[in-house]
Amino acid sequence: MNLILLEEGDFVAPGRVRLRDRRLEHVRAIHRARPGDDLRVGLIGGQIGTGRVLSLERDVLELEVQLSEPPPAPSAVRLAVALPRPPSLRKLLQQATALGVKEFVLLHSERVEKSYWQSHGLAPEALQRQLVLGLEQARDTILPRVSLERRFARFARETLPALLAGSRGLVAHPEAEQVCPRALAEPLTLIVGPEGGFVPREIELLCAEGAEPVHLGPRLLRVETAVVALLARLAP
Ligand code: SAM
Repeated sequence: MNLILLEEGDFVAPGRVRLRDRRLEHVRAIHRARPGDDLRVGLIGGQIGTGRVLSLERDVLELEVQLSEPPPAPSAVRLAVALPRPPSLRKLLQQATALGVKEFVLLHSERVEKSYWQSHGLAPEALQRQLVLGLEQARDTILPRVSLERRFARFARETLPALLAGSRGLVAHPEAEQVCPRALAEPLTLIVGPEGGFVPREIELLCAEGAEPVHLGPRLLRVETAVVALLARLAP
């Protein structure tokens, strides 16, 4: 936790918060903070700054907060990814959030196990937990949005054209002829396949809507690894 994320409900007076949950435990056990120490804090959806420890009791932490700096710039990449197994999804959401992604689309595809759609990890509060961990890691405050596309054909024919109206579309596909470009500043929609890869018909549908297939070299990477490699490569 490189940043303590605050919510409006934490404020007990202007510039003063009281924390009682895992943030209190973290400040006590990891920061080993004492009254007078300054901690990095940020308001969800708002600015970042400093929280001076006023008191640290067994069950409550009180901070005097000054927020004056903007959060880091967001990534230009919207990430559309075939729904991975739950542990991969947790890693992917945390890591891509830490790298600045502000919009996720989790989509179905032929090689996505249908049972993954029943996972508790897709509940809004479970998704938010992973996003918050990514924000805390990267000292960011802006929560990404997550949407679910349970039908691939609907995603490809209806959602994707709207997304590509305002962004360049890239499909990460190991068999693509074109290597993935580097350092792009324009808005991008990056589409990443399931563990077994997209089937040829799916690649055709995505390309028919204007997405460009790109590869990352001969190494077949796990989805969460490919996402990090792609985001790092595409960042300007
Ligand atoms: N056998 C599958 C295939 O050939 O597509 C491998 C799928 S890979 C484990 C899972 C996803 O990560 C792929 O669908 C792709 O989106 C992305 N990926 C992994 N390695 C890649 C690479 N070298 N180039 C491009 N995309 C890659």
